[in-house]
Amino acid sequence: VIKINISILGSTGSIGTQALEVVDDLKGIKDITVKAISGNRNIKLLEEQARKYKPLIVGVSDESGAKELKTKLADTDIKVVCGEEGLIEVATEKDTEMVLSSIVGFAGLVPTMKAIEAKKDIALANKETLVTAGQLFMDKIKENNVRLLPVDSEHCAIFQCLEGNRDRKLRKILLTASGGPFFGRKRNELLDIKKEDALKHPNWSMGAKITIDSATLMNKGLEILEAKWLFGVDIEDIEVIVHRESIIHSMVEYNDLSVIAQLSLPSMKHPIQFAFTYPKREISPDKRLSFAEIGKLTFFEPDRDTFKCLALAERSGKVGGTMPTAMNAANEIAVAKFLNDEIGFLEIADFVEDVMNSHKVIENPTIEDILRVNEEIRSL
Ligand code: NDP
Ligand code: MG
Repeated sequence: VIKINISILGSTGSIGTQALEVVDDLKGIKDITVKAISGNRNIKLLEEQARKYKPLIVGVSDESGAKELKTKLADTDIKVVCGEEGLIEVATEKDTEMVLSSIVGFAGLVPTMKAIEAKKDIALANKETLVTAGQLFMDKIKENNVRLLPVDSEHCAIFQCLEGNRDRKLRKILLTASGGPFFGRKRNELLDIKKEDALKHPNWSMGAKITIDSATLMNKGLEILEAKWLFGVDIEDIEVIVHRESIIHSMVEYNDLSVIAQLSLPSMKHPIQFAFTYPKREISPDKRLSFAEIGKLTFFEPDRDTFKCLALAERSGKVGGTMPTAMNAANEIAVAKFLNDEIGFLEIADFVEDVMNSHKVIENPTIEDILRVNEEIRSL
């Protein structure tokens, strides 16, 4: 049995909790020791996880939460740390070999960069890091010679489609999209959308932010940028195709027009397990894909006029520099406002567009530039 030590940034989230299930599933096949975990607000779950997995360190970004957890875990030897420094401690725990980056949003950037500097392999769920700091992130991966395994299901699929074909010329990446809960609707049918409607995703159960991103198609936009950096392709060579059933998780088309796809039932445990066991493939306790049960797979063009966020993200990627950072920050703010009933569904895209229109792009930004742009847009 192979052993590995991991740390999880964002262990209380949708990805984090499923990652811990994968750790349980793999017992006796690959023994994964969880050395450090982190959360933000969910102190109750952090305590449960800490008692079950006995990590050395638990990070809480929220200061009062850290205090509360310290009291709760007073009878253990577990060290409770807090704030960004605390998250960095989790990300760089000395015996950790792989860090699962599954904090949501820009908050995941600095701890993930620190994990790379500490020579940890990265299982990457947090797409916002690549969207905002793709060049610096990929440079750091190379510089430190660590492995980067995508956990986003589409990117895990593309990664698998590229295996054995790395030096072949690829013609297109075909990025599949579920289309979200409002597929087929026009703008005037989206005026009165409530967050409860937007939070109902047809195929996936995920954290609130990414669920809204899936409803606006911003998620697919972010994934285009993510694919650009992960696989070193131009935005123009990434084609989005709506595939309602979420069975094909993405495809790669080669120069000879052969298309390779990766298929499985929609479960994030698949890409998480893939990252944890790579380069091996281990048995999964999940349900098998039954083609006869599914019957048919369908495909459509995305509607960029209705779901403007997709086009905005693409535009930001073509402009480059700090534009994707500005676009991402605007989207994080707009989604939070929508979830807080402060703005309507269509206003998310409008807000992102306004911010992009007034953003002064810095080319080849440093990490300081990126942190500053993110901060400036948040304080608007
Ligand atoms: P969740 O909202 O479910 O979880 C987010 C995690 O990050 C929680 O542990 C949360 O802590 C923590 N967190 C939130 N805000 C902060 C902060 N400011 N500082 C530190 N920690 C914070 O998100 P998901 O698991 O759905 O998504 C995580 C990432 O993975 C996202 O980037 C998403 O795009 C990506 N992803 C998710 C998929 C999914 O199926 N869920 C699929 C593909 C990618 P707490 O809960 O304690 O407050
Ligand atoms: Mg995805």
